[in-house]
Amino acid sequence: MATGGRVTMANFINVILPIPLEKSFTYSITAEEAALLQPGMRVAVPFGKSKIYTGVVQCIHQNPPEVYEAKEIHQLLDDYPIVNTTQLKHWEWIASYYMCTLGEVVRSALPGAFLLESETLVLRNREYEIDENTLLDDEFLVFEALQHQTILKVQEVSAIVERKNVLPILQRLLEKKVIVLKEEVYEQYKPKLVRYVKLGTEHASDEKLEELLKTLTRAPKQSQVVLTLFQLQGKSQHPIKVSELEASSNTSKAVIKSLVDKGILEEYFIKTDRVNYDGDADNSETKDLNEYQKAALVDIKASFQTGKVTLLKGVTSSGKTEVYVKLIEECLEKGLQALYLLPEIALTTQLISRLQEYFGEKIAIYHSKYNVQERVEVWQNVLQEKPKAQLVIGARSAMYLPFSKLGLVIVDEEHESSFKQFDPAPRYHARDAAVVLGHLHKANILLGSATPSVESYHNAQTGKYGFAEITRRYGNVLMPEMELVDIKEASRKRKMKGHFSERLFMEMEETLQEGAQIILFQNRRGFAPLMECLTCGHTPQCLNCDVSLTYHQYRNQLRCHYCGHHTALPEICFACGSPDLDTKGFGTEQIEKEVSGLFPEAKVGRMDLDTTRGKHGYEKIITAFEQKELDILVGTQMLTKGLDFRNVNLVGVMNADSLLNFPDYRAHERTYQLLTQVAGRAGRTKKRGRVIIQTYNPYHQILKQVTTSDYKGMYTEQLYEREQFKYPPVNRIIKVTFKHKNYQVLNEAADWFAGALRTNFGGTVLGPEYPPVARIRNQYLKHIVIKIRKAHSLAQTKANIRRIEKTFKAVAMFRSVRVIYNVDHI
Ligand code: ADP
Ligand code: ZN
Ligand code: ZN
Repeated sequence: MATGGRVTMANFINVILPIPLEKSFTYSITAEEAALLQPGMRVAVPFGKSKIYTGVVQCIHQNPPEVYEAKEIHQLLDDYPIVNTTQLKHWEWIASYYMCTLGEVVRSALPGAFLLESETLVLRNREYEIDENTLLDDEFLVFEALQHQTILKVQEVSAIVERKNVLPILQRLLEKKVIVLKEEVYEQYKPKLVRYVKLGTEHASDEKLEELLKTLTRAPKQSQVVLTLFQLQGKSQHPIKVSELEASSNTSKAVIKSLVDKGILEEYFIKTDRVNYDGDADNSETKDLNEYQKAALVDIKASFQTGKVTLLKGVTSSGKTEVYVKLIEECLEKGLQALYLLPEIALTTQLISRLQEYFGEKIAIYHSKYNVQERVEVWQNVLQEKPKAQLVIGARSAMYLPFSKLGLVIVDEEHESSFKQFDPAPRYHARDAAVVLGHLHKANILLGSATPSVESYHNAQTGKYGFAEITRRYGNVLMPEMELVDIKEASRKRKMKGHFSERLFMEMEETLQEGAQIILFQNRRGFAPLMECLTCGHTPQCLNCDVSLTYHQYRNQLRCHYCGHHTALPEICFACGSPDLDTKGFGTEQIEKEVSGLFPEAKVGRMDLDTTRGKHGYEKIITAFEQKELDILVGTQMLTKGLDFRNVNLVGVMNADSLLNFPDYRAHERTYQLLTQVAGRAGRTKKRGRVIIQTYNPYHQILKQVTTSDYKGMYTEQLYEREQFKYPPVNRIIKVTFKHKNYQVLNEAADWFAGALRTNFGGTVLGPEYPPVARIRNQYLKHIVIKIRKAHSLAQTKANIRRIEKTFKAVAMFRSVRVIYNVDHI
């Protein structure tokens, strides 16, 4: 080959830096380094004036960069690639499809500990005692500095050890658990075990109790305890905690213990299935499937044979998880890896311990609550194909792991919108990206849900996806009985106690008397403010779009976020003329208060953003509810995700209207999904559960579809509307957001861009329009929504948009405007 007569060729690598650069950056390497380096290894490289970044080698070549002098790398950080070529391909797809840079994908994909850079902040890890003797000299210097200063920048570490290159030292300190990185301080949650106490079975009846008390006449303290326990049990159906008995009877632990030793009292724990896997139990056999599950499994496998992504639609509690288990089992037997993706919030200890029974140590769990070490560990285990990471269960970021022989991808609760990353880039949909990953590995791909997304069901209907279905709950448990309660009518007849209809109130009373539990659902806090008529429940709608208008306080207007249509805030209801208009919703906190007033005896808990904010708030509330310390749980969306409570007989939906009126083209689909999922929490055992849905619109089509489980009706209607209004799945949308601190500049920029788009796409460009919150952190925001017909090439459209962006950025005034793309915005 002609090499231009040069004797030695210079070597270069392209490095993906974890920052939003259009292109990868080229660095020069020595011949020795060239012999060692492979794509997917990390290198520490200088960038800009003084920064050091960790980057990932994309390729090795002999072409010097044309417009700049290639700098040398600082150092190799790996002996082997930690990112494989399939991943690089997948990440390139993500960058291209979701219109972001490869650097942004790398930043999102790699655990923070892999990406140390000069700006990283390090702290002392206080969870571990460190044996100073195990530290090397340079490590010790850092350790010592952290005794005096709580936070160090990597650059400061550099000064301390008097070396430019400190990333390897920090890497070692991380591995030795001496330091943690700033954003990842984390604590392991251990579910508490509560001790409860009851009268021994042989003393439980009234006569027996009298006999018992006689024998205890000479032990007044013990007799006092027994009497107190008897009283407590009479008062409520709650399990009695040992601590509660101790306090009420004014005795000591020792007295209670002696009664337990004598067999007069019995101690017990409520079985919760939430113990961490301790690794010594033998793996249980997987459960035999019933005929419906078997039939679904056969269909799924047949569909896999054709190489199609397959959708499993199975009603709540139909035993989808057990079907997944069979598929996972087969996959692992073949020695392949399996990926089980769940929305973050459904990733509960409940589910994990269930799977651990079958797959024990083969399970690795990966999600954002995990600290650096744990994430790096899982990464390494997957990379090295270790048996202990053969099955990865995780939230959306688990699809970034270095799988090399993925045989099965399961996306459970595939309809969940939280699979879509909103901010920062890449704004990917983990379900869709996981499907692409599965294809790259030629793996089997299963999407599961009781309420599939309209787009997935559409794919199944059109034959793009395979399909399987389970229409019965496991164990012949009946679907809960659903009832719509008209609160408009109830208000008129003055039959409301606060936000509770008489109907719901009575059902609650009955359920509590039976000793069963209740879930009350109220839409999430902080939803877009809408205007609602207190008399008829009407919420004004946009004339051009199928969405509710939102209330904008600062302009005193009702506006549509999609097309910009707006009207002044009306003084009377458009529908009924009543002047009683309300612009606030009501929250979980208020419901909780009302419940406590209505049922002073009941123990009420609340699960929403506020109460779950603490590190393990979410787990704690679930545990308390499972252990029956609470009778009633008031909560938001968080309640709906895959929780398997055994003792819930009643679910009350406080107000379905706030869901229906959400200003979003998916509001109706989401309402169906959410209500069906909440309802699914009721009556998961023999007794048929009840669901009461309160609404101003009992004749609303969607609510009827929910109560009759008419998924197909919902789908057909929604699909029709999406076609009418040019929304997915028939069309695709890209949302473009502009951000700038100057209002004038932002407006001109957005108008310019929209104009350029319109000349390219005609009538399928909406906006620019302000979002409901039009200024965030002193930056003004404006959106454009582009609708693209399926027949048009999405790639072509994106290329056009990019071209427009280039011209746009050439205008001096617009250069500082941030342009953000959200492809398949939901
Ligand atoms: P889904 O995921 O469809 O909501 P689950 O998989 O949680 O349903 O199943 C509901 C309940 O039925 C669980 O408690 C589960 O253990 C039980 N179950 C499901 N399938 C079987 C089976 N084949 N044998 C025994 N129990 C089963
Ligand atoms: Zn509109
Ligand atoms: Zn009205």
